Amino acid sequence: LGAPELEALQHADAAALLPRPSGESDKYRRGVVGVAAGSERYPGAAVLAVSGALRGGAGAVRYAGPGGPAVLARHPETLVSAGSPRAAGRVQAWVVGPGLGDTSQARTAVDDALAADVPILVDADGLRLLTPEAVRRRTAATVLTPHAGEAAALLGWAREDVEGRRLHAVRELAARFGATVLLKGSTTLVADPDPGRPVRVNATGTAWLATAGSGDVLSGLTGSLLAAGLAARDAASLGAYLHGLSARLTPHPLTALDLADSLPAAWHNVS
Ligand code: AMP
Ligand code: MG
Repeated sequence: LGAPELEALQHADAAALLPRPSGESDKYRRGVVGVAAGSERYPGAAVLAVSGALRGGAGAVRYAGPGGPAVLARHPETLVSAGSPRAAGRVQAWVVGPGLGDTSQARTAVDDALAADVPILVDADGLRLLTPEAVRRRTAATVLTPHAGEAAALLGWAREDVEGRRLHAVRELAARFGATVLLKGSTTLVADPDPGRPVRVNATGTAWLATAGSGDVLSGLTGSLLAAGLAARDAASLGAYLHGLSARLTPHPLTALDLADSLPAAWHNVS
């Protein structure tokens, strides 16, 4: 028999992966995560991604982009700058894409993140500005987090073909881009660029997650786990695990911000 094709993160695995501050921790050592998200048209995505990042346990969050005032109104602890990621200062991981739009500013944000020598997570509008070559050139890890429609666009397939062959689709994306790929849906699949490793499946979520902005919270959360030093497939699978658990612990109908607010309860449930 060959290696198993699928595996699921167990509660004990999640507990072992959860970053915990120690006596030697300071805010920089706990991880600084950069968020390049939102635009004049979609400032809310910036707020949601930053919420996920702050509740993902990072020591600090730097935000780069035009959504600073909206971000600060909700999260005054954020380090905000209006320029591109390159000018924002040192971080341990970048999250780029939610609500970014397709302006020249959006392209610069994605190009800056791709050029950074730290792990990055690319979601939503950011995915439309990628080429496999640009991702394969990177030396640090890249995590892509498409839903079925975004995965179809990246692969040049019809959406129904992604939905009908999700395991094949996530493996194919990971191979083409040389990246860790988290494919969203009613269950979440995480494929590693190394084809020898089983795909991780997560089913902690509920259908109430099908709400505007919930993916933006997942991006920030997973970016925070990357900044804490987790390997890409562990950050992606623990992010999906906590995001789903958070939905279970939130009264419904839930909003994306409720989800971020429930992350401490999910964290407590795991530890
Ligand atoms: P996005 O499409 O980027 O807003 O992300 C939606 C999030 O909700 C992803 O984490 C999905 O995996 C999750 N999700 C969407 N629909 C469902 C569902 N029916 N059951 C469980 N999780 C879902
Ligand atoms: Mg999304």
